[in-house]
Amino acid sequence: MTKDFDVILCGGGHVGSCLALALAQQNCKVAFIDSLAPTERKNNQNDNRIFALAAGSRKILESLNVWQLLQAHTTPIEHIHVSNKGSFGAARLHAKDFNHDALGYMTSSIALQHALNQAMEKVDITIFSPASLENFSIHNDHVDVTISGGKKLTGQWLIGADGVRSFVRQHAGINVTVKNYQQKALITLIDLENSHHFTAYERFVGESAIALLPHTPWQSVLIWSAETNFIDHLMSLDDKSFLSELQNAFGFRLGKFSSLTQRLSYPLTQTKADSIHAERILLVGSAAQTLHPIGAQGFNLALRNVALLDHLIKEARSRHETGFTQSMLDEYAQRQAVDTSKTLRFTDHLVNFSSLSDPLSTVARTILINALGSSFLAQKYLLQF
Ligand SMILES: Cc1cc2nc3c(=O)[nH]c(=O)nc-3n(C[C@H](O)[C@H](O)[C@H](O)COP(=O)(O)OP(=O)(O)OC[C@H]3O[C@@H](n4cnc5c(N)ncnc54)[C@H](O)[C@@H]3O)c2cc1C
Repeated sequence: MTKDFDVILCGGGHVGSCLALALAQQNCKVAFIDSLAPTERKNNQNDNRIFALAAGSRKILESLNVWQLLQAHTTPIEHIHVSNKGSFGAARLHAKDFNHDALGYMTSSIALQHALNQAMEKVDITIFSPASLENFSIHNDHVDVTISGGKKLTGQWLIGADGVRSFVRQHAGINVTVKNYQQKALITLIDLENSHHFTAYERFVGESAIALLPHTPWQSVLIWSAETNFIDHLMSLDDKSFLSELQNAFGFRLGKFSSLTQRLSYPLTQTKADSIHAERILLVGSAAQTLHPIGAQGFNLALRNVALLDHLIKEARSRHETGFTQSMLDEYAQRQAVDTSKTLRFTDHLVNFSSLSDPLSTVARTILINALGSSFLAQKYLLQF
């Protein structure tokens, strides 16, 4: 039977767009479906997420010709400073010690989506947007898909990059395991009195973790994660009381905090699909897993998955095999499971580390932070994520 497309990709968020670019570079015939129009994806006023991109993610975005469009909207992280309120000592990591220009980069979700949209305009992808995937059926050698307006498409493979409530995943009958941390993250931008000097601060305060990450020259992104009741309390404060509570917890390293943007809060859960593939179906990004943002790993992990898929397709092509085969997907699933488990464990350790509350545990936390400050090997381990 003739297939219209090699791959039908449902979901054009950050991950779906990156994968579409990688597949198009490999001359795969891709149908790209997203419920939102491109302008809606990049102008979403409710999306105040600022991402920390790992240095490795930069390389992947370069290979997808996205970094070149994004770079002007990024801020390098040249130093990382980790501390524990109420105890002496801190761990400091510097890009130059690792011969890197930066340990990572900050960018906004909106700027990233804009760069991805621009990169997609330059490649050969058939875009259905705004359009929603409404139904699909799996056959021996193809997938039939119905999108809005009753339009039918046929492809060899269907990829679900359609987010945490993935229709592809649900319709394929793949369950998810959800872990509720009973925590929330509060996110806002804070105006600074002193420059951040391209430093990302991570400060553990009682049972909460405060990340202040460089954004514009006089602004840092605050991600405060803690138990739900405490974040609800912080959300209920007026701006002045909130800034004073933040100042008390973080201290004056960045001077006096003068103002902030609107605060938004997100409940923190980890979701993991019981399987990331089924017959003729693959899940990527939040459709496959979501992580607690404390380690800033969700998109970085998904991007490494895109790079792995890209690599395996190239290898298959060099053996004169078609790009996508079931055995290639099995190998992908096996190799990405190793990375995913390691990243989930790392994120969980960070959450547990930030939730320590009794005095003995906070002493242990101080010792670990000091050990991190003096161990190059431990620092290298951290930077692989
Ligand atoms: C507060 C917060 C901070 C974060 N910070 C970081 C960070 O610093 N670093 C990092 O690496 N990660 C971070 N993440 C994680 C990151 O946001 C996600 O990993 C990433 O955005 C997931 O992208 P996605 O494309 O998989 O899903 P989504 O962005 O959810 O995209 C799904 C897309 O699918 C489309 N869609 C859904 N259903 C259908 C359908 N039926 N038909 C057609 N289209 C459909 C939607 O319109 C949407 O465009 C953070 C997350 C949060 C919540």
